[in-house]
Amino acid sequence: MEKKGVFNTLIEQLMALPGVGKKTAERYAFFILKMPEEQARTIATAITDAKDKLRHCKICNNMTEAEVGTPTAVCKICANGARDPQKILVVEEANTLYAIEKSGEYKGLYHVLHGTYSPLSDNGHEGTSASINGLMERIKQGMSFGISEVILAVSPNIDGEATALYLTRMIKPFGVKVTRIACGIPAGSDIEYADEVTLIKSLEGRRDV
Ligand SMILES: [Zn+2]
Repeated sequence: MEKKGVFNTLIEQLMALPGVGKKTAERYAFFILKMPEEQARTIATAITDAKDKLRHCKICNNMTEAEVGTPTAVCKICANGARDPQKILVVEEANTLYAIEKSGEYKGLYHVLHGTYSPLSDNGHEGTSASINGLMERIKQGMSFGISEVILAVSPNIDGEATALYLTRMIKPFGVKVTRIACGIPAGSDIEYADEVTLIKSLEGRRDV
């Protein structure tokens, strides 16, 4: 078999990124080749550093930089005593959290599901199930200081709806108010692509479920 060659390997690996087809990957590959060597190495190191040093927060599953020798860590949001511990905003992915954080308008805490949960489809989201268990633990532990509201910021599509329904059924028996972010995000779409202004409007317009 003919050896693939480093250039083709680079193109192939770039194609693993979302939204990058062969043409774009080729363009990136040529661009990288023209870069000063130091800059190309900085990009490569940034990728391996992110994979080596970033961990999921042991409370909310947000990304956090773990200290050397500590497999688990608490993120800056969970560690911030000024945040309102009575509100938990549940997001599918950390990028929604970052979009909301950029606005600086939400002062509560978060919980990152890392996906959606659909009890009907056998889609094997083991990480999501573990994350939902983690959320339920937080709610149980928070009973003493009173979590007043769990806000669901999940996509208005089939998987998001199933996730919202499932979480509502799980959480409500604990007497905690469950709300869902409302307008602005078109039905059937993925919340991941919503911009921060839409997200904040949607958060302000949340309704009880
Ligand atoms: Zn956290």
